[in-house]
Amino acid sequence: MSNEIIKGALYVVATPIGNLSDLSDRAKKVLSEVDFIAAEDTRVTGKLLMCVGAKKSLISYHEHNKREKGEEIIRRLKNGESGAIVSDAGTPAISDPGEDLVRLCAENGVDTFAIPGPCAAISALSISGLPTGRFSFEGFLSTNKGERKRHLEEVKESGYTLIFYEAPHKLRDTLSAMYSVLGDRRISLVRELTKINEEVFRTTLSGAVKYYAENNPKGEFVLVVEGAKPEDKKQFWEDLDEVAHVEYYLEKGFERMDAIKAAARDRGVAKSVIYKIWNEG
Ligand code: SAM
Repeated sequence: MSNEIIKGALYVVATPIGNLSDLSDRAKKVLSEVDFIAAEDTRVTGKLLMCVGAKKSLISYHEHNKREKGEEIIRRLKNGESGAIVSDAGTPAISDPGEDLVRLCAENGVDTFAIPGPCAAISALSISGLPTGRFSFEGFLSTNKGERKRHLEEVKESGYTLIFYEAPHKLRDTLSAMYSVLGDRRISLVRELTKINEEVFRTTLSGAVKYYAENNPKGEFVLVVEGAKPEDKKQFWEDLDEVAHVEYYLEKGFERMDAIKAAARDRGVAKSVIYKIWNEG
């Protein structure tokens, strides 16, 4: 697409997560040229705009006013103004305000354009050293003990690399809960990305619990946790005996020999073994 600002459109603009040089030229241009900017905290965004020499009308848009402000923003966009949304740091709508505004745009036929840039989750994953092919972004865990445990139970068997955001004062509790529900796995604790004290601590969950029992967590963290290994996952057939296992496939419509073969493959045994048990049963 061209770099001209389109009237009546919303630009979703990523901003730095610690290093001002990460604000792209395109982001600067958009922030300088749109008619208004919706900002999570107008003071934070005001400082960013001062650094890039842009003077703009800012609308405060956050979790607690998103309904009224969302309507006002849509009205202005539909009247032909161009707008941008930014959060305090990183990519809007990713554990930050923006998701609802983009949905409102979609419902109202308003065009949206992404101005990509920093995102702590993706940056942390890229240097985690853990598999990046398939991953699941889990955002923040709840501070409520029960909900946190439920969330972890839900992802326990996923083979995807798991990405969590966390604040330093909650890190110890989070690591203990992860260790107790997920067991001992590899974890990369990625801290203070793009800042002077940027650090990747590649360890295990038990190693991280021990380390932070003795050291004070400081700075902003992304936790990148290894997914479940195939051998850790409970298989659907583990509670079935061989006959019930074959019956499972028969009920799915398999022919008898195919069902025996499938059960044998699941269990890692020769099909003659299952065949014999099936015939005796
Ligand atoms: N939308 C943002 C993004 O795209 O990264 C995330 C916003 S979320 C409210 C804030 C969380 O992101 C922090 O608690 C921390 O987990 C993570 N984070 C933000 N900046 C970071 C940084 N420089 N280093 C490590 N983690 C960071």
